Amino acid sequence: MGEDYYKILGVGKNASQDEIKSAFRALALKYHPDRNKEKGAEEHFKSINAAYAVLSDPEKRKQYDAYGPDAFSQRYSQEDIFRNFDFESVFRNMGFDIGGDDIFSSMFGFGQQGRRADIGNDILASVRITIEEAARGATKRLRISHIKACDRCGGRGGEPGTKEIQCSRCGGSGHVQQTARTPFGMIRTVGACDRCGGRGRYFERACRKCNGSGAMRVNDEVEVAIPKGVDTGSRLRLQGMGDFGKDRVGDLYIDIEVQESRLFRREGDMLYNELHIPLHIALLGGEAMVQTIGGGRKVRIEPGVQNNSKIVLRGEGMPHMRGSSKGDHVATVIVDIPKHLSDEQRRLVKKLADLNADDEDKVRKFGIF
Ligand SMILES: [Zn+2]
Ligand SMILES: [Zn+2]
Repeated sequence: MGEDYYKILGVGKNASQDEIKSAFRALALKYHPDRNKEKGAEEHFKSINAAYAVLSDPEKRKQYDAYGPDAFSQRYSQEDIFRNFDFESVFRNMGFDIGGDDIFSSMFGFGQQGRRADIGNDILASVRITIEEAARGATKRLRISHIKACDRCGGRGGEPGTKEIQCSRCGGSGHVQQTARTPFGMIRTVGACDRCGGRGRYFERACRKCNGSGAMRVNDEVEVAIPKGVDTGSRLRLQGMGDFGKDRVGDLYIDIEVQESRLFRREGDMLYNELHIPLHIALLGGEAMVQTIGGGRKVRIEPGVQNNSKIVLRGEGMPHMRGSSKGDHVATVIVDIPKHLSDEQRRLVKKLADLNADDEDKVRKFGIF
């Protein structure tokens, strides 16, 4: 479990460097082992320092924000957290006596939890598809650049045929003691051995192709099966398609963007468009073709259909990612009023107008229609 560094320092996620600094200063004064002999104070002081080491460093803070406490603590060892963290100037600036005794010598025993795991990075890619592809599902080929296991050594890092031998520097333990000067005197820290990278063993001869890293960057074309029903904002995960790591290969995440369609407006699983019909169909009724995502659907138009009325086609909308149900299609009826009339048409419409006028007269005179 990772620690919530913002909570530890009691600052908000958007805290400025000044706020972080003054929060740290107050807490460091309170929990400094020289002053605070309460049980757990030392542990807490350590957490405060770790929180400050990360949040005061823009690069580390960015990583922390991106990964979140748990993933961050998996990826970064104590050693990483305190790398480039200058105890001496930090504490001198806070007015602590830096000539103090060896009180911290055991506190920051960095390497105790072993070497940092070699975890490959996750990769994020994106793909644009049409709404028709989102409705049916699609297969897309995607070019990605990622790190794969070296094909010469299979990711082990050793030249094929050579043996792994015990590291002479650390005696196979994977860590070495280092001594650093700090405000609290000399601190002995335990760090990963730099000869073997904390593994305790290394190959007699490193792989010629990857220089022992076990990894190589390649451009790959991957085939991605996009399930039906995806929408902009959907994210697919292809496990193990990210960067190679000796302990864990990262994943490939693919963000989907569904292009705006000229034919449909989409809201979740609902699809909307307009159905234009000529005036005579609106008056007399008839048949019309609604353009749907599945092609077209013939619909009956009742005589006297009103402009802007809705035709709902159940189950003709977008499919769901899971299951077989579908949303609806809603077509708004638009009655096209002709802009030009032939002489004959004009004569007939005038006749219609006269008939309407007669009807209105009757209504006025007799209250009947
Ligand atoms: Zn290799
Ligand atoms: Zn070693």
